[in-house]
Amino acid sequence: MAELYDVVIIGGGVTGTALLYALSKFTDLKRVALLEKYSTIATVNSKATNNSQTIHCGDIETNYTLEKALKVRRAAQMLVRYGEQLPPAIRDKVIYKFPKMVLGIGDSECELLHHRYTEFQPHFSGMQFLEKAQIAEVEPNVVNLNGHDRPEPLTAIALLNEYTAINYGTLSQSFVEQAQTTDKTIDLRLGTQVQAIEPVGENYQITTAEDTLMARFVVVSAGGHSLLFAHRMGIGLEYSCLPIAGNFYFTPQVLNGKVYTVQNDKLPFAAIHGDPDVTVPGKTRFGPTALPLPLLERYHLRTLGEYLEVLRLDGKVVSVLWDLLKVPDIRNYIFKNMAFEVPLVDRRLFLQDARKIVPSLRLSDLKFAHGVGGIRPQLIDKTQQKLILGQAEIDPGNGIRFNITPSPGATNCLNSAEQDLLRIQQHLGCRFDRSWFESEVSVT
Ligand SMILES: Cc1cc2nc3c(=O)[nH]c(=O)nc-3n(C[C@H](O)[C@H](O)[C@H](O)COP(=O)(O)OP(=O)(O)OC[C@H]3O[C@@H](n4cnc5c(N)ncnc54)[C@H](O)[C@@H]3O)c2cc1C
Repeated sequence: MAELYDVVIIGGGVTGTALLYALSKFTDLKRVALLEKYSTIATVNSKATNNSQTIHCGDIETNYTLEKALKVRRAAQMLVRYGEQLPPAIRDKVIYKFPKMVLGIGDSECELLHHRYTEFQPHFSGMQFLEKAQIAEVEPNVVNLNGHDRPEPLTAIALLNEYTAINYGTLSQSFVEQAQTTDKTIDLRLGTQVQAIEPVGENYQITTAEDTLMARFVVVSAGGHSLLFAHRMGIGLEYSCLPIAGNFYFTPQVLNGKVYTVQNDKLPFAAIHGDPDVTVPGKTRFGPTALPLPLLERYHLRTLGEYLEVLRLDGKVVSVLWDLLKVPDIRNYIFKNMAFEVPLVDRRLFLQDARKIVPSLRLSDLKFAHGVGGIRPQLIDKTQQKLILGQAEIDPGNGIRFNITPSPGATNCLNSAEQDLLRIQQHLGCRFDRSWFESEVSVT
């Protein structure tokens, strides 16, 4: 007889492991399993090297309105709160304090940042407005050009004493360890690839290469593969996917913290940034670029066929892609990112962007970061004929949920776990101690 679990989670990245932690700590459910196809957790997009390691709070992401920023901040604060409560030896491998800032370069961006600061500062008490000389105190290489100050007007919004960087891989590991400290049955099945999910009566049967399991509730947090599972069950067919890969370049350490630039409204999260890499001390990592790549998982060509399956190419998908290409900023951006892939041109072109942040960077400073950078599975909503920015979930309301998590999905992991728990509670009638959850990880 197949074992029956209360909840089975598919996918051991930061989204799946955050839910494992939350289920084990804050509900009265007794039997939970997490199935991960690789032999270790967090080896795909949540691996430290595959993302930008940023805790997105909404403060320096200029594509966010204040309303959106306050929502994003709640998710970010959950992460920080969780991290701060870890034993110091573990905490220091999970969350990191670095200064962060967004630069305004030229008159109009400086003005924009000044307006933003006036609006946001009452809600973000650590926020400071920096003039050029103050920026130089924190990030000398942002201001210095051949021994002088760079010529353009330059201001910044900065937060100088907060947790801003995170290793989403060690975070995932800590979620699993926390879950395993409870007295419940928490089955972590690594090296277990799920092949199919089928409804059987009120439950779900999950078939893996080795055996079958039964679950009263299933949460699929398998990145781009979540959509594949949904489609194979005839769910979420109104969605297609546009996977966007991101590449990075390393330079010697030229920055002390995270330095972002003003985003183009039409291209949220497109502007590259410079960051310390928490796994490579002594270097600065610039990126990510944004390259459409027909894969569900980076570096795994075999996922090409799976991508073509979720693409479900038809007139509506073509129309969304065509509409994107019609916008000059987006079209130019896509072509520029393709050119980043052309040998000899790539580094020269990237250097132009990176010099917005560090004007004295030289070509010889830039080294392509091989094997670094994952893929963002952006959903295309065929009904509304638009590209969905940010994470999404598909919930048919019958005991199964699918989380699809492009950037800033990792920052959102505890918020996503909370949403999953509310639906699980509703469906299974279990207890979810929300006030305890809030007191542990949330800030009202
Ligand atoms: C270039 C780049 C930069 C980013 N920067 C940031 C950032 O700075 N901040 C931020 O918040 N977010 C960032 N993101 C987004 C972030 O990386 C993702 O949102 C997050 O890691 C998604 O976590 P996940 O657990 O949902 O997916 P993943 O980490 O991809 O995990 C999915 C898991 O499902 C498993 N799986 C798949 N199929 C199966 C199967 N059949 N059976 C069993 N297991 C399966 C996979 O092996 C994998 O372990 C970035 C993404 C990219 C690509």
